[in-house]
Amino acid sequence: MRVYRARFLAALALTGIVLLLVLGCIGIFRLVFKGDLKTEKEIVRETMEIVDEDMDLLDELKEKMKGTEFTLILDAGHGGSDVGTGDASYYEKDINMDIVNEMVPLLEYCGVKVLLTRDGDETVALEERSGFANESEADRFVSIHCNFCEDDASVAGLECYYWQGSSVGQNYAESIVGAAEESGEIKVRGTRTQDFHVLRETQITAILIETGYISNKEEGEKLMSSDYQKTLAFYLVKGIIEGYLDSEGTPSYQQSF
Ligand SMILES: [Zn+2]
Repeated sequence: MRVYRARFLAALALTGIVLLLVLGCIGIFRLVFKGDLKTEKEIVRETMEIVDEDMDLLDELKEKMKGTEFTLILDAGHGGSDVGTGDASYYEKDINMDIVNEMVPLLEYCGVKVLLTRDGDETVALEERSGFANESEADRFVSIHCNFCEDDASVAGLECYYWQGSSVGQNYAESIVGAAEESGEIKVRGTRTQDFHVLRETQITAILIETGYISNKEEGEKLMSSDYQKTLAFYLVKGIIEGYLDSEGTPSYQQSF
């Protein structure tokens, strides 16, 4: 009888030790890999500093995107030896890249496949950008820029350009401008047409966003601030996704009008 009791106690102790070891391992794992255990949502929320209301909106977009395949080419204007507008203290190419970098995680969170024409300070010719788009199977091409008005420093606001005659492009530009207006924080000038290379030579529906005027003191300072870049990124992403979902079923090719 004593033998059985001793065996029972030993088994009990062993079980206890194993249990403690397992719990300990889990604790250590959680401590060491805390970052890895965070959900995608937590990572996006923290790194992008997104408030609850905007996170809900992002989740709505993610929900709407379910079952839809959407590949977007995001084109940070200029780069490398082509600095864009601006003076020695700042360059348009850097602001464009900063805004694109803010947009990518938001788009990917919503399930959009993003392709970049450049992901650093590289010189990329316009022909390479349109060529990349034409060889890809992407659905939309969105180019990000900042504007400059030499004659009038009071000019300010976001403009969205599309290829004249492309109704898909026009609707898309309107969707993006609409989202920017909705923000209440972004001054908007509206949609326009222009003979830009990336609009003319890109066969898929393409738009070019002039996010604001660096030549306007107030807007220029905002464009260089991380807070405003985040605001721009958020509402541009909203317009890009909603505009695409609204046009789903229409051809990607702007020549099809
Ligand atoms: Zn530019």
